[in-house]
Amino acid sequence: MTHSSAPHRPLPDGLHPDTLALRVSTPASHYGEHSEALYLTSSFTQPDSETSAHRFAHPDAGYTYTRTGNPGVTAFEQRLAALEGAEAAIATASGMSAILLLGLGLLKSGDHVVCSQSMFGSTIRLLGTDFARFGVQTSFVPQTDLDAWQAAVQPNTRLLFAETPTNPLTEVCDIAALAGIAHGAGALLAVDNCFATPVLQRPIALGADLVVHSGTKFLDGQGRVMAGAVCGPRAIVDDQLAPVNRAAGMVLSPFNAWVVHKGLETLALRVRAQSAAALQLAQWLQQQPAVERVYYPGLPSHPQHALAMRQMSGQGGAVIAFRLRADSPGQGRARAFHLIDNTRVCSLATNLGDVRSIISHPASTSHGRLSEEQRQAAGITQSLVRLAVGLEHLGDLQDDLRRGLDTLAAP
Ligand SMILES: *Cc1c(COP(=O)(O)O)cnc(C)c1O
Repeated sequence: MTHSSAPHRPLPDGLHPDTLALRVSTPASHYGEHSEALYLTSSFTQPDSETSAHRFAHPDAGYTYTRTGNPGVTAFEQRLAALEGAEAAIATASGMSAILLLGLGLLKSGDHVVCSQSMFGSTIRLLGTDFARFGVQTSFVPQTDLDAWQAAVQPNTRLLFAETPTNPLTEVCDIAALAGIAHGAGALLAVDNCFATPVLQRPIALGADLVVHSGTKFLDGQGRVMAGAVCGPRAIVDDQLAPVNRAAGMVLSPFNAWVVHKGLETLALRVRAQSAAALQLAQWLQQQPAVERVYYPGLPSHPQHALAMRQMSGQGGAVIAFRLRADSPGQGRARAFHLIDNTRVCSLATNLGDVRSIISHPASTSHGRLSEEQRQAAGITQSLVRLAVGLEHLGDLQDDLRRGLDTLAAP
C-alpha cells in the first residue's frame, strides 16, 4: 500500500519528518474523511469467495480479521516507519510485546543475545529469565563499555539489543559502534528508541537494523493507551515478525492505534519542547544545594555528553535523574520521599513521555525488585529521583520542586 493523503493524491518524495508525521496515512474511505476513521470491527466482510480465499492466502491483499490486520493499525505502522526511516513497521499491544515479538520472530533455541545490563527492567526479566527457559541465552554487559559488548559476542550471537538513553540514569551508548560490532559478528542490532524517539534519534540511519518502541510513552504522549512497535527492513517485518504476531495475537487494538497515530502528529513539537524544558530544569537542579548530582545527557557534566549531542540531534530528551545529598541509604530514601511528597503539580506515577510531568523514586518502584547490592551496582541509590518532564510552565515546575528541596537544604 502506498502512502497517500487522499485516495488519488500520492505524497511527493523527499518530505521532511515533521510533514510525514502529519501526512502519511492510509487512503480515506469513500466518504473522504479528513481525519482518519476509526475501524472498530473485528472482521471484514468479503465480496465473494474467490476474493476471500485470496485475502486469506495473502493478508496484505485485503483485510479479513483484525488480528491479521486493520486499516487503523496499518496507518500507524506506515506513519511510524516513515518517521524512523524504516521500510516497514509492525504494531503490537505494548512495548513489551514488541520485544517479545522480536525474540519469537528472530531467535530460536541455542541462539545468543548481547544486551545492556541497564535495559528497561521488564526487558531484562524477559531476556534473562523467560527467553532462557526456551534455550535463548543473553549476556548482559555494561551499557557504555564497547569492549565488553565485543567480548560478549559468541559464534551463536544473533542479536545485539541496546536502549539509549537508559532509564533512569540516562546512560548513552554509541549506536553506530554497536552496529559495527553486530554486523562484524553476522548479528542484527535492535535499539529500543523509547526515550529519544525518532524526533531526536534515528537508529536505522546510524546503522541499526531494527527499532523497538513503547508507544505508551512519547508516541501517545498523553498517557492514555498502551502500544508498541518494531520497525525494520520489509523482509524481516513482513516475513519473520508479522506471521508470528498474526498467530500469537499480540496485536495493537484499533482504538489504541488511532490514539497513537494521532499522537505522532504532535510528537516533534512535544519532544523538542519537553527536552528544552528538561535542559533548563537540569541546569537549575545542578545549582540546588540539596542536589548532589544530576544525570542528563544535555549537561556538559554527563559522561557521554558529546556522543549524546551528536546522536540525539543536539537535545538530551525529557527524562532527568538526580541524586540528593544523604549520609546513608535510609536518609536518602527519606529525603527523596520528602521531595516527592511535597510536589503538588508533578504526578506520582509510573510512566514517562506524558505532557504532564511525572516524578518517581526508582529504587522503590521500577527497580524495587532488585537487591540493595544490585541497585548500588546499577547506581540506583535510595536518594535518586527521576523526573519525566512535561509541558507545564517551567516556573511552576521549579516552584513544585523547590518546596521540598529548600527544606532539605536548610541545616
Ligand atoms: C516502558 C518501556 C518499555 C515497555 O513498554 P510498555 O508499553 O510498558 O510495555 C520498554 N522499553 C522502555 C525503554 C520503556 O520505557
